[in-house]
Amino acid sequence: MKTKSFTVNPFEMNCYIYWDEASKEGVIIDPGAFEDFEKDEILGYIKQNGISIKLILNTHGHIDHILGNDWAKKEFNVPLLMHKDDMLLIDKSMDQAAMFGVNFPKPPEPDRFIDESDEIKFANTTLKILHTPGHSPGSVCFVDENEKVIFGGDVLFRGSIGRTDLWMGDMDLLLDSIRTKLFTFDNDFIVFPGHMDETTIGEEKENNPFLNGEYDKYA
Ligand SMILES: [Zn+2]
Repeated sequence: MKTKSFTVNPFEMNCYIYWDEASKEGVIIDPGAFEDFEKDEILGYIKQNGISIKLILNTHGHIDHILGNDWAKKEFNVPLLMHKDDMLLIDKSMDQAAMFGVNFPKPPEPDRFIDESDEIKFANTTLKILHTPGHSPGSVCFVDENEKVIFGGDVLFRGSIGRTDLWMGDMDLLLDSIRTKLFTFDNDFIVFPGHMDETTIGEEKENNPFLNGEYDKYA
């Protein structure tokens, strides 16, 4: 499996193409492309590698992650999946856009809601779904256990965690999601986050100040 990251839109959000070199099937995770050159770059990569996009996946409903949903739906014409608990963010997307001063088309409704009882299958790959609320109510992480890869959205970052000052954010819930769900995976699992560089579960267990006990001294 190959992972390709594109950092897009004014929020510098990581959009990922996760695909299988043998079958050429793949998914696009958080298609936040905003400018035409960003869309062209993503499409160029997909065409150059002959990738067939099978699904559009959203880790959560914040605008930087859903800015490109309308574009992706029209371009790929495949189902858009997200957790139902972030529907309030889709419904509030125009408020979100106004708050951050960006303008974009009203996002399409998801085609299907996903939760932990679901699995996402394409090529010969299965993605497990973790419901990891705290940054937003419907935040999810996508895990490929064979490849030891986690697409984490804005839950866990290199040396940090997702912000909890937005709609229905909850710091205790976020820390709990990380400890009880993400930290059950082995140290060598790679986390591809919604912003900034990738990291590993082991790296964050050891060095993340919110999770290694440092933060608790001051909280
Ligand atoms: Zn977010």
